[in-house]
Amino acid sequence: MGLNDSQRQRYARHLVLPAIGEAGQEKLLAGRVLVVGLGGLGSPAALYLAAAGVGTLGLMDADVVEPSNLQRQILHATPDIGRPKTESAAEKIRALNPDVRVRRYTERFARDSAPALLRDYDFVVDATDNFASKYFIPEACHAAGRAYSHAGIQAFVGQTLTVLPGRTACYRCLFEGPVPPDPETPRGPLGAVPGVMGALQAAEAVKYLLGIGELLVNRLLVYDALAATFREIPVRRNPACPLCAA
Ligand SMILES: [Zn+2]
Repeated sequence: MGLNDSQRQRYARHLVLPAIGEAGQEKLLAGRVLVVGLGGLGSPAALYLAAAGVGTLGLMDADVVEPSNLQRQILHATPDIGRPKTESAAEKIRALNPDVRVRRYTERFARDSAPALLRDYDFVVDATDNFASKYFIPEACHAAGRAYSHAGIQAFVGQTLTVLPGRTACYRCLFEGPVPPDPETPRGPLGAVPGVMGALQAAEAVKYLLGIGELLVNRLLVYDALAATFREIPVRRNPACPLCAA
């Protein structure tokens, strides 16, 4: 297939990296990533994936843009208040990189539509902000055999883990109990915290598509913005995991 001249210019900084190069860029252009949640995590994740030239981006969110989102959800701007997040996000992504095919899903990640949906994607970025989704997305990815990146945020702390279902420790290996209730009042966060974590999720998706480097598997990465520390907690598959135990 090969890159055209404008693509050679756009992706010049990838092309000079031996681990990417033209062959890698073609892989990215053929790559398909679903971003579930277009908020604090999904904004940087989707923007970096689009900028990197990931050829197909699924953008899923059922909500509309609210004023309180703008403190951290950098896909959306003040004139977008009241618009569906998928519409606002798709517009920004298309403006950033016309190479990206955008598919909009203005809906929640749902049990009945998940199997067909996941067949169209190589990797899933869980950028949701509620426990029900955080429990359900791993289930659906496990059933579909799709790799995914988990991330969660609270106040000044973020955590992230990449999962290859059936091969590495999964989200439910770590959190095996029933779905906990979401906090009644949102605990922040500081906007830059999901910014950092969403960027890490985008990097994981790109590495997965390219097959390069070491994925963030079997270790939970915890970022504490107040302490300015990154900690790695080794994790392993849980023989009692309600999801991936043999
Ligand atoms: Zn598990």
